[in-house]
Amino acid sequence: MAAELVITAANLWGVGKGDIGVRDGRIVPAEVGPDTEVIDGRGKTVVPGFQDAHVHTPFAGLNRLRVWLNDADTREDYLRIIADHAAGNKDGWITGGGWSMPQFPGGTPRKEDLDAIVPDRPVFLFNRDVHGAWLNSKALELAGITAGTPDPPHGRVERDSLTGEPTGTLHEGAAYWVNEHVVPTPTRGQWEAAILEGQRHLHSLGITGWQDAWVTPATQAAYIALAEQGQLSARVVGALWWDRNRGLEQIDDLLARRERSAPGFHPTTVKIMLDGVLENYTGALLEPYCDGCGGHTDNTGLSFIDPELLSAAVTRLDASGFQVHMHAIGDRAVRMGLDAVQAARTANGRNDHRHHIAHLQLVHPDDIGRFAQLEVTANCQMYWASTDEQMEELTIPFLGPERADLQYPFASLVAAGTRLAMGSDWSVSSANPLVQMEVGITRLDPGNRDGVAFLPSQCIDLGTAMTAFTAGSAFVNHDDEAGTLRAGSRADLVMLGAKLESARSLADVPIELTVAAGRIVHRS
Ligand SMILES: [Zn+2]
Repeated sequence: MAAELVITAANLWGVGKGDIGVRDGRIVPAEVGPDTEVIDGRGKTVVPGFQDAHVHTPFAGLNRLRVWLNDADTREDYLRIIADHAAGNKDGWITGGGWSMPQFPGGTPRKEDLDAIVPDRPVFLFNRDVHGAWLNSKALELAGITAGTPDPPHGRVERDSLTGEPTGTLHEGAAYWVNEHVVPTPTRGQWEAAILEGQRHLHSLGITGWQDAWVTPATQAAYIALAEQGQLSARVVGALWWDRNRGLEQIDDLLARRERSAPGFHPTTVKIMLDGVLENYTGALLEPYCDGCGGHTDNTGLSFIDPELLSAAVTRLDASGFQVHMHAIGDRAVRMGLDAVQAARTANGRNDHRHHIAHLQLVHPDDIGRFAQLEVTANCQMYWASTDEQMEELTIPFLGPERADLQYPFASLVAAGTRLAMGSDWSVSSANPLVQMEVGITRLDPGNRDGVAFLPSQCIDLGTAMTAFTAGSAFVNHDDEAGTLRAGSRADLVMLGAKLESARSLADVPIELTVAAGRIVHRS
Protein backbone atom coordinates (compact mmCIF):
# COMPACT_ATOMS: atom_id res chain seq x y z
CA MET A 1 0.00 0.00 0.00
CA ALA A 2 1.42 3.36 -1.00
CA ALA A 3 2.45 5.88 1.63
CA GLU A 4 0.85 9.32 1.85
CA LEU A 5 4.21 10.99 2.36
CA VAL A 6 7.69 9.77 1.50
CA ILE A 7 11.00 11.44 2.26
CA THR A 8 13.76 10.02 0.05
CA ALA A 9 17.50 9.63 0.47
CA ALA A 10 17.66 11.31 3.86
CA ASN A 11 19.89 10.60 6.82
CA LEU A 12 17.45 8.81 9.09
CA TRP A 13 18.53 9.28 12.68
CA GLY A 14 19.39 5.97 14.31
CA VAL A 15 18.59 4.06 11.09
CA GLY A 16 21.01 5.18 8.37
CA LYS A 17 20.59 6.66 4.90
CA GLY A 18 17.33 5.81 3.22
CA ASP A 19 13.69 6.57 2.54
CA ILE A 20 10.88 6.83 5.06
CA GLY A 21 7.12 6.71 4.56
CA VAL A 22 4.07 7.91 6.46
CA ARG A 23 0.55 6.50 6.22
CA ASP A 24 -2.46 6.59 8.56
CA GLY A 25 -0.43 8.36 11.21
CA ARG A 26 2.30 5.69 11.28
CA ILE A 27 5.81 5.27 9.94
CA VAL A 28 5.61 2.75 7.09
CA PRO A 29 7.80 1.47 4.22
CA ALA A 30 8.47 4.19 1.63
CA GLU A 31 6.19 2.87 -1.08
CA VAL A 32 5.36 5.57 -3.64
CA GLY A 33 1.98 5.60 -5.40
CA PRO A 34 0.21 8.13 -7.61
CA ASP A 35 -1.03 10.19 -4.65
CA THR A 36 2.15 10.08 -2.57
CA GLU A 37 3.80 13.39 -1.76
CA VAL A 38 7.53 12.82 -2.26
CA ILE A 39 10.05 15.08 -0.56
CA ASP A 40 13.70 15.03 -1.57
CA GLY A 41 15.67 14.40 1.61
CA ARG A 42 19.16 14.57 0.13
CA GLY A 43 21.49 16.39 2.50
CA LYS A 44 18.80 16.48 5.20
CA THR A 45 18.35 14.60 8.45
CA VAL A 46 15.11 13.09 9.65
CA VAL A 47 14.81 12.67 13.41
CA PRO A 48 11.93 11.55 15.63
CA GLY A 49 9.63 14.38 16.71
CA PHE A 50 11.13 16.29 19.62
CA GLN A 51 9.27 16.14 22.91
CA ASP A 52 9.62 18.91 25.43
CA ALA A 53 9.47 17.38 28.89
CA HIS A 54 8.93 20.67 30.73
CA VAL A 55 7.22 23.57 29.05
CA HIS A 56 4.58 26.19 29.82
CA THR A 57 2.77 26.35 26.52
CA PRO A 58 -0.47 28.14 27.53
CA PHE A 59 1.38 30.73 29.58
CA ALA A 60 4.03 31.32 26.89
CA GLY A 61 1.40 31.49 24.17
CA LEU A 62 -0.61 33.99 26.21
CA ASN A 63 2.44 36.21 26.64
CA ARG A 64 3.20 35.98 22.92
CA LEU A 65 -0.25 37.40 22.31
CA ARG A 66 0.33 40.17 24.92
CA VAL A 67 3.56 41.86 26.06
CA TRP A 68 6.38 39.56 24.88
CA LEU A 69 9.76 40.70 26.16
CA ASN A 70 11.59 37.38 25.67
CA ASP A 71 13.17 38.40 22.38
CA ALA A 72 14.44 41.75 23.71
CA ASP A 73 17.59 42.21 25.75
CA THR A 74 17.76 45.69 27.21
CA ARG A 75 15.73 47.78 29.59
CA GLU A 76 15.22 50.37 26.85
CA ASP A 77 13.81 47.75 24.46
CA TYR A 78 11.52 46.43 27.18
CA LEU A 79 10.11 49.90 27.82
CA ARG A 80 9.63 50.54 24.10
CA ILE A 81 7.73 47.24 23.64
CA ILE A 82 5.54 47.94 26.68
CA ALA A 83 4.79 51.49 25.51
CA ASP A 84 3.93 50.22 22.00
CA HIS A 85 1.61 47.59 23.44
CA ALA A 86 -0.06 50.16 25.71
CA ALA A 87 -0.60 52.45 22.73
CA GLY A 88 -2.22 49.64 20.72
CA ASN A 89 -4.41 48.24 23.52
CA LYS A 90 -6.34 51.02 25.10
CA ASP A 91 -8.06 49.55 28.10
CA GLY A 92 -7.48 47.43 31.14
CA TRP A 93 -4.44 45.68 32.47
CA ILE A 94 -1.16 45.40 30.64
CA THR A 95 0.17 41.90 31.23
CA GLY A 96 2.71 39.51 29.77
CA GLY A 97 6.38 39.24 30.61
CA GLY A 98 9.77 37.91 29.69
CA TRP A 99 12.17 40.50 31.15
CA SER A 100 15.45 39.20 32.50
CA MET A 101 16.99 40.13 35.81
CA PRO A 102 20.53 41.11 34.68
CA GLN A 103 19.08 44.11 32.83
CA PHE A 104 18.34 45.81 36.17
CA PRO A 105 20.55 46.71 39.14
CA GLY A 106 20.30 43.86 41.67
CA GLY A 107 17.96 42.06 39.28
CA THR A 108 14.98 44.12 40.44
CA PRO A 109 13.27 46.59 38.07
CA ARG A 110 11.45 49.62 39.48
CA LYS A 111 7.89 50.88 39.25
CA GLU A 112 9.03 54.40 38.24
CA ASP A 113 10.19 53.13 34.82
CA LEU A 114 6.72 51.78 34.13
CA ASP A 115 4.93 54.77 35.68
CA ALA A 116 6.75 57.02 33.21
CA ILE A 117 5.20 55.22 30.23
CA VAL A 118 1.96 53.86 31.72
CA PRO A 119 0.85 56.08 34.61
CA ASP A 120 -2.89 55.42 34.57
CA ARG A 121 -3.37 51.69 33.98
CA PRO A 122 -2.03 48.72 35.92
CA VAL A 123 1.02 46.86 34.55
CA PHE A 124 2.01 43.37 35.71
CA LEU A 125 4.86 41.60 33.90
CA PHE A 126 6.40 38.31 34.96
CA ASN A 127 10.13 37.94 34.53
CA ARG A 128 11.59 35.36 32.17
CA ASP A 129 11.95 32.63 34.79
CA VAL A 130 8.50 33.41 36.24
CA HIS A 131 9.79 33.70 39.78
CA GLY A 132 9.08 37.40 40.05
CA ALA A 133 7.05 40.23 38.54
CA TRP A 134 7.47 43.92 37.70
CA LEU A 135 4.57 46.19 38.57
CA ASN A 136 3.82 49.85 38.20
CA SER A 137 2.36 52.01 40.97
CA LYS A 138 -1.20 51.54 39.71
CA ALA A 139 -0.93 47.75 39.94
CA LEU A 140 0.62 47.92 43.42
CA GLU A 141 -2.22 50.23 44.46
CA LEU A 142 -4.91 47.88 43.11
CA ALA A 143 -3.19 44.99 44.90
CA GLY A 144 -3.15 47.00 48.11
CA ILE A 145 0.60 46.52 48.59
CA THR A 146 2.13 49.32 50.68
CA ALA A 147 5.01 49.83 53.10
CA GLY A 148 2.80 48.28 55.79
CA THR A 149 2.00 45.05 53.90
CA PRO A 150 3.82 42.04 55.36
CA ASP A 151 5.57 39.59 53.02
CA PRO A 152 3.45 36.51 52.22
CA PRO A 153 4.78 33.14 53.50
CA HIS A 154 6.38 32.00 50.22
CA GLY A 155 7.27 35.33 48.73
CA ARG A 156 8.83 38.72 49.21
CA VAL A 157 8.03 42.31 48.34
CA GLU A 158 11.13 44.19 47.18
CA ARG A 159 11.27 47.36 49.27
CA ASP A 160 13.13 50.61 49.67
CA SER A 161 15.63 49.96 52.46
CA LEU A 162 14.78 53.23 54.24
CA THR A 163 11.03 53.67 53.82
CA GLY A 164 9.85 50.09 53.31
CA GLU A 165 7.89 51.27 50.25
CA PRO A 166 7.45 48.59 47.56
CA THR A 167 9.85 49.40 44.71
CA GLY A 168 8.06 47.53 41.93
CA THR A 169 9.41 43.95 42.04
CA LEU A 170 7.54 41.09 43.72
CA HIS A 171 9.26 37.74 44.28
CA GLU A 172 7.73 34.26 44.14
CA GLY A 173 4.54 33.92 46.21
CA ALA A 174 4.02 37.69 46.33
CA ALA A 175 3.92 37.80 42.52
CA TYR A 176 1.71 34.70 42.26
CA TRP A 177 -0.76 36.11 44.77
CA VAL A 178 -1.26 39.26 42.71
CA ASN A 179 -1.47 37.25 39.48
CA GLU A 180 -4.12 35.01 40.99
CA HIS A 181 -6.20 37.47 42.97
CA VAL A 182 -5.79 40.88 41.34
CA VAL A 183 -4.90 40.49 37.66
CA PRO A 184 -8.02 39.55 35.62
CA THR A 185 -8.09 35.84 34.75
CA PRO A 186 -7.97 34.93 31.05
CA THR A 187 -11.18 33.61 29.55
CA ARG A 188 -11.54 30.10 28.07
CA GLY A 189 -11.25 31.59 24.60
CA GLN A 190 -8.07 33.43 25.52
CA TRP A 191 -6.52 30.23 26.89
CA GLU A 192 -7.46 28.31 23.76
CA ALA A 193 -5.90 30.99 21.56
CA ALA A 194 -2.81 30.95 23.77
CA ILE A 195 -2.38 27.17 23.49
CA LEU A 196 -2.81 27.29 19.72
CA GLU A 197 -0.23 30.07 19.45
CA GLY A 198 2.15 28.08 21.64
CA GLN A 199 1.52 24.90 19.65
CA ARG A 200 2.20 26.71 16.37
CA HIS A 201 5.53 27.96 17.71
CA LEU A 202 6.53 24.56 19.14
CA HIS A 203 5.61 22.73 15.92
CA SER A 204 7.79 25.22 14.00
CA LEU A 205 10.67 23.98 16.17
CA GLY A 206 10.03 20.30 15.48
CA ILE A 207 8.20 19.62 18.74
CA THR A 208 5.38 17.10 18.41
CA GLY A 209 4.62 16.43 22.05
CA TRP A 210 5.20 17.99 25.40
CA GLN A 211 4.63 17.87 29.11
CA ASP A 212 2.90 20.99 30.35
CA ALA A 213 4.58 21.59 33.69
CA TRP A 214 1.76 23.65 35.19
CA VAL A 215 -1.79 22.75 34.24
CA THR A 216 -4.53 24.68 36.02
CA PRO A 217 -8.24 23.82 35.88
CA ALA A 218 -8.65 26.64 33.34
CA THR A 219 -5.86 25.48 31.01
CA GLN A 220 -6.99 21.87 31.41
CA ALA A 221 -10.46 22.83 30.18
CA ALA A 222 -8.94 24.70 27.23
CA TYR A 223 -6.73 21.74 26.27
CA ILE A 224 -9.72 19.38 26.39
CA ALA A 225 -11.84 21.74 24.30
CA LEU A 226 -9.10 21.99 21.67
CA ALA A 227 -8.54 18.22 21.67
CA GLU A 228 -12.26 17.62 21.20
CA GLN A 229 -12.35 20.12 18.33
CA GLY A 230 -9.44 18.28 16.67
CA GLN A 231 -7.15 21.30 17.03
CA LEU A 232 -4.61 19.79 19.40
CA SER A 233 -2.13 18.26 16.95
CA ALA A 234 0.55 17.66 19.58
CA ARG A 235 0.36 14.91 22.18
CA VAL A 236 0.27 16.57 25.58
CA VAL A 237 0.80 15.30 29.09
CA GLY A 238 -0.54 17.68 31.71
CA ALA A 239 1.17 18.08 35.06
CA LEU A 240 -1.45 19.12 37.59
CA TRP A 241 -0.24 21.74 40.02
CA TRP A 242 0.35 20.70 43.63
CA ASP A 243 -1.03 23.49 45.83
CA ARG A 244 1.61 24.06 48.48
CA ASN A 245 -0.89 25.77 50.74
CA ARG A 246 -2.86 22.53 51.04
CA GLY A 247 -2.00 19.04 52.27
CA LEU A 248 -2.66 15.45 51.28
CA GLU A 249 -6.41 16.06 51.11
CA GLN A 250 -5.91 17.64 47.67
CA ILE A 251 -5.07 14.22 46.20
CA ASP A 252 -8.80 13.46 45.92
CA ASP A 253 -9.21 16.58 43.79
CA LEU A 254 -6.22 15.59 41.65
CA LEU A 255 -7.72 12.13 41.12
CA ALA A 256 -10.97 13.74 39.99
CA ARG A 257 -9.08 16.04 37.63
CA ARG A 258 -7.18 13.09 36.16
CA GLU A 259 -10.50 11.78 34.87
CA ARG A 260 -10.92 14.87 32.72
CA SER A 261 -8.85 13.90 29.69
CA ALA A 262 -9.31 13.79 25.92
CA PRO A 263 -7.57 12.00 23.05
CA GLY A 264 -4.12 13.57 22.94
CA PHE A 265 -4.36 15.22 26.35
CA HIS A 266 -3.38 13.16 29.40
CA PRO A 267 -3.45 14.89 32.82
CA THR A 268 -1.60 12.02 34.48
CA THR A 269 1.19 13.88 36.27
CA VAL A 270 1.42 16.01 39.40
CA LYS A 271 3.96 18.83 39.51
CA ILE A 272 5.43 19.72 42.89
CA MET A 273 7.61 22.76 43.41
CA LEU A 274 10.28 21.96 46.00
CA ASP A 275 12.12 25.29 45.96
CA GLY A 276 12.60 28.53 44.02
CA VAL A 277 15.68 29.74 42.16
CA LEU A 278 19.20 30.64 43.22
CA GLU A 279 19.14 34.17 41.80
CA ASN A 280 16.79 35.40 44.51
CA TYR A 281 18.03 33.02 47.23
CA THR A 282 14.87 30.91 47.19
CA GLY A 283 16.65 27.79 45.87
CA ALA A 284 17.02 25.31 48.78
CA LEU A 285 20.67 24.64 49.65
CA LEU A 286 22.28 22.12 51.97
CA GLU A 287 24.82 24.76 53.08
CA PRO A 288 24.01 28.50 53.35
CA TYR A 289 24.39 30.99 50.52
CA CYS A 290 27.54 33.10 50.35
CA ASP A 291 27.08 36.85 50.63
CA GLY A 292 28.54 37.57 47.19
CA CYS A 293 31.76 39.01 48.62
CA GLY A 294 33.38 35.80 49.84
CA GLY A 295 31.61 35.77 53.20
CA HIS A 296 28.86 33.55 54.54
CA THR A 297 25.23 34.00 55.50
CA ASP A 298 22.87 31.80 57.47
CA ASN A 299 20.35 31.67 54.61
CA THR A 300 19.81 28.19 53.12
CA GLY A 301 16.92 29.31 50.90
CA LEU A 302 13.32 28.17 50.96
CA SER A 303 11.76 24.77 50.71
CA PHE A 304 8.23 25.21 49.45
CA ILE A 305 7.04 21.97 51.00
CA ASP A 306 7.95 20.25 54.25
CA PRO A 307 10.13 17.19 53.52
CA GLU A 308 7.88 14.84 55.50
CA LEU A 309 4.78 16.05 53.74
CA LEU A 310 6.60 15.70 50.42
CA SER A 311 7.50 12.08 51.12
CA ALA A 312 3.94 11.33 52.19
CA ALA A 313 2.55 13.09 49.12
CA VAL A 314 4.86 11.35 46.64
CA THR A 315 4.12 8.00 48.29
CA ARG A 316 0.35 8.54 48.02
CA LEU A 317 0.53 9.91 44.48
CA ASP A 318 2.74 7.00 43.43
CA ALA A 319 0.28 4.54 44.96
CA SER A 320 -2.52 6.29 43.04
CA GLY A 321 -0.74 5.80 39.73
CA PHE A 322 0.37 9.38 39.22
CA GLN A 323 3.69 10.34 37.77
CA VAL A 324 5.38 12.97 39.95
CA HIS A 325 7.33 15.81 38.30
CA MET A 326 9.34 17.83 40.81
CA HIS A 327 10.97 21.23 40.41
CA ALA A 328 14.33 21.16 42.23
CA ILE A 329 17.07 23.76 41.76
CA GLY A 330 19.20 23.62 44.90
CA ASP A 331 21.03 20.57 46.25
CA ARG A 332 18.74 20.38 49.28
CA ALA A 333 15.66 20.36 47.06
CA VAL A 334 17.15 17.65 44.81
CA ARG A 335 17.88 15.52 47.86
CA MET A 336 14.35 16.06 49.20
CA GLY A 337 12.93 14.91 45.88
CA LEU A 338 15.07 11.78 45.78
CA ASP A 339 14.27 11.02 49.43
CA ALA A 340 10.57 11.29 48.64
CA VAL A 341 10.83 8.84 45.73
CA GLN A 342 12.85 6.53 47.96
CA ALA A 343 10.05 6.63 50.54
CA ALA A 344 7.54 5.81 47.80
CA ARG A 345 9.67 2.91 46.52
CA THR A 346 9.98 1.55 50.06
CA ALA A 347 6.23 1.75 50.63
CA ASN A 348 4.95 0.78 47.20
CA GLY A 349 7.76 -1.11 45.49
CA ARG A 350 8.91 -0.49 41.91
CA ASN A 351 6.47 0.55 39.22
CA ASP A 352 6.38 2.23 35.83
CA HIS A 353 5.16 5.69 36.81
CA ARG A 354 8.40 7.30 35.57
CA HIS A 355 8.91 10.04 38.16
CA HIS A 356 11.25 12.83 37.17
CA ILE A 357 13.03 15.77 38.72
CA ALA A 358 13.51 18.90 36.63
CA HIS A 359 16.18 21.62 36.60
CA LEU A 360 18.91 20.04 38.76
CA GLN A 361 21.07 23.12 38.90
CA LEU A 362 22.98 21.95 41.94
CA VAL A 363 23.25 18.25 42.73
CA HIS A 364 25.34 17.07 45.66
CA PRO A 365 27.87 14.46 44.45
CA ASP A 366 26.42 11.93 46.91
CA ASP A 367 23.07 12.16 45.13
CA ILE A 368 24.23 11.66 41.52
CA GLY A 369 24.01 7.86 41.66
CA ARG A 370 20.59 7.86 43.30
CA PHE A 371 18.74 8.83 40.11
CA ALA A 372 19.52 5.51 38.44
CA GLN A 373 19.09 3.54 41.67
CA LEU A 374 15.62 4.98 42.23
CA GLU A 375 14.73 5.03 38.50
CA VAL A 376 14.22 8.79 38.54
CA THR A 377 14.65 10.50 35.18
CA ALA A 378 16.72 13.69 35.13
CA ASN A 379 14.64 16.30 33.30
CA CYS A 380 17.36 18.67 32.06
CA GLN A 381 17.11 22.25 30.88
CA MET A 382 20.32 22.24 28.84
CA TYR A 383 20.09 25.87 27.82
CA TRP A 384 20.88 27.01 31.34
CA ALA A 385 24.26 25.25 31.41
CA SER A 386 26.28 28.08 29.95
CA THR A 387 27.92 31.19 31.31
CA ASP A 388 25.93 34.39 31.05
CA GLU A 389 25.48 37.54 33.10
CA GLN A 390 22.86 35.86 35.27
CA MET A 391 25.30 33.04 36.06
CA GLU A 392 28.30 35.30 36.62
CA GLU A 393 26.65 38.08 38.58
CA LEU A 394 23.64 36.55 40.28
CA THR A 395 24.63 32.92 40.85
CA ILE A 396 28.34 32.09 41.16
CA PRO A 397 29.16 34.78 43.80
CA PHE A 398 26.33 33.51 45.98
CA LEU A 399 27.22 29.82 45.67
CA GLY A 400 30.97 30.22 46.08
CA PRO A 401 33.54 28.59 43.78
CA GLU A 402 33.30 24.99 44.97
CA ARG A 403 29.56 24.65 44.67
CA ALA A 404 29.48 26.68 41.46
CA ASP A 405 31.49 23.85 39.87
CA LEU A 406 28.74 21.34 40.66
CA GLN A 407 26.12 22.97 38.44
CA TYR A 408 24.15 21.10 35.80
CA PRO A 409 26.18 17.88 36.14
CA PHE A 410 24.68 16.22 33.08
CA ALA A 411 27.72 14.13 32.08
CA SER A 412 28.08 12.87 35.64
CA LEU A 413 24.42 11.87 35.66
CA VAL A 414 24.83 10.04 32.33
CA ALA A 415 27.97 8.29 33.57
CA ALA A 416 26.00 7.09 36.60
CA GLY A 417 23.42 5.45 34.33
CA THR A 418 20.72 8.12 34.64
CA ARG A 419 18.04 8.38 31.99
CA LEU A 420 17.83 11.95 30.67
CA ALA A 421 14.82 13.80 29.35
CA MET A 422 14.99 17.35 28.05
CA GLY A 423 12.75 20.34 28.26
CA SER A 424 13.03 24.03 27.59
CA ASP A 425 10.96 25.50 30.40
CA TRP A 426 9.77 27.85 27.62
CA SER A 427 9.04 30.77 27.96
CA VAL A 428 11.79 30.88 30.57
CA SER A 429 14.25 30.22 27.74
CA SER A 430 14.23 29.33 24.05
CA ALA A 431 12.03 26.40 23.07
CA ASN A 432 14.34 25.44 20.17
CA PRO A 433 15.60 21.89 20.88
CA LEU A 434 18.62 22.34 18.61
CA VAL A 435 19.73 25.42 20.55
CA GLN A 436 19.37 23.54 23.82
CA MET A 437 21.19 20.48 22.48
CA GLU A 438 24.08 22.60 21.26
CA VAL A 439 24.45 24.08 24.74
CA GLY A 440 24.36 20.61 26.29
CA ILE A 441 27.08 19.46 23.90
CA THR A 442 29.32 22.54 24.02
CA ARG A 443 28.32 24.23 27.33
CA LEU A 444 28.46 27.48 25.31
CA ASP A 445 25.67 29.84 24.38
CA PRO A 446 25.17 29.63 20.59
CA GLY A 447 25.17 33.44 20.63
CA ASN A 448 28.69 33.42 22.07
CA ARG A 449 30.44 30.42 20.55
CA ASP A 450 33.90 31.89 21.09
CA GLY A 451 33.28 32.25 24.81
CA VAL A 452 34.54 30.02 27.60
CA ALA A 453 32.69 26.73 27.99
CA PHE A 454 30.88 26.37 31.31
CA LEU A 455 32.29 23.37 33.20
CA PRO A 456 33.25 21.54 29.97
CA SER A 457 33.76 18.22 31.75
CA GLN A 458 29.94 18.08 31.90
CA CYS A 459 29.47 18.23 28.10
CA ILE A 460 27.35 15.41 26.68
CA ASP A 461 27.57 14.04 23.13
CA LEU A 462 25.15 14.54 20.24
CA GLY A 463 23.70 11.03 20.49
CA THR A 464 22.94 11.45 24.17
CA ALA A 465 21.37 14.85 23.59
CA MET A 466 19.24 13.65 20.65
CA THR A 467 18.09 10.56 22.54
CA ALA A 468 17.16 12.68 25.55
CA PHE A 469 15.08 15.12 23.49
CA THR A 470 13.27 12.33 21.63
CA ALA A 471 13.08 8.93 23.31
CA GLY A 472 13.99 10.26 26.78
CA SER A 473 11.26 12.87 26.85
CA ALA A 474 8.82 10.44 25.20
CA PHE A 475 9.60 8.08 28.08
CA VAL A 476 8.57 10.55 30.76
CA ASN A 477 5.53 11.40 28.67
CA HIS A 478 4.57 7.69 28.76
CA ASP A 479 4.56 7.86 24.98
CA ASP A 480 5.88 4.47 23.99
CA GLU A 481 4.63 4.79 20.39
CA ALA A 482 7.00 7.65 19.60
CA GLY A 483 10.61 8.66 20.11
CA THR A 484 12.07 6.51 17.29
CA LEU A 485 11.82 6.19 13.51
CA ARG A 486 10.98 2.48 13.63
CA ALA A 487 8.29 1.26 11.21
CA GLY A 488 4.98 1.09 13.05
CA SER A 489 5.77 3.99 15.37
CA ARG A 490 3.47 6.99 15.40
CA ALA A 491 4.60 9.26 12.59
CA ASP A 492 6.05 12.11 14.67
CA LEU A 493 9.10 13.26 12.78
CA VAL A 494 11.14 16.28 11.86
CA MET A 495 13.22 17.01 8.79
CA LEU A 496 16.27 19.13 9.56
CA GLY A 497 17.87 21.09 6.71
CA ALA A 498 21.38 19.68 7.08
CA LYS A 499 23.42 16.64 7.94
CA LEU A 500 24.20 16.71 11.63
CA GLU A 501 27.95 16.79 11.34
CA SER A 502 29.08 19.62 13.55
CA ALA A 503 27.41 19.76 16.92
CA ARG A 504 28.95 23.20 17.32
CA SER A 505 26.56 24.78 14.83
CA LEU A 506 23.52 22.65 15.62
CA ALA A 507 21.50 25.72 16.62
CA ASP A 508 21.83 27.10 13.07
CA VAL A 509 20.27 24.05 11.42
CA PRO A 510 16.86 24.97 9.95
CA ILE A 511 13.80 22.96 10.94
CA GLU A 512 12.14 22.40 7.57
CA LEU A 513 9.26 20.03 8.19
CA THR A 514 7.38 18.77 11.22
CA VAL A 515 4.97 15.84 11.05
CA ALA A 516 2.78 15.06 14.07
CA ALA A 517 0.79 11.82 14.06
CA GLY A 518 1.16 11.71 10.28
CA ARG A 519 0.00 15.28 9.64
CA ILE A 520 2.30 18.00 8.36
CA VAL A 521 2.03 20.67 11.03
CA HIS A 522 4.96 22.86 9.98
CA ARG A 523 6.74 23.45 6.69
CA SER A 524 9.29 26.20 6.16
ZN1 LIG B 1 8.94 25.41 34.57
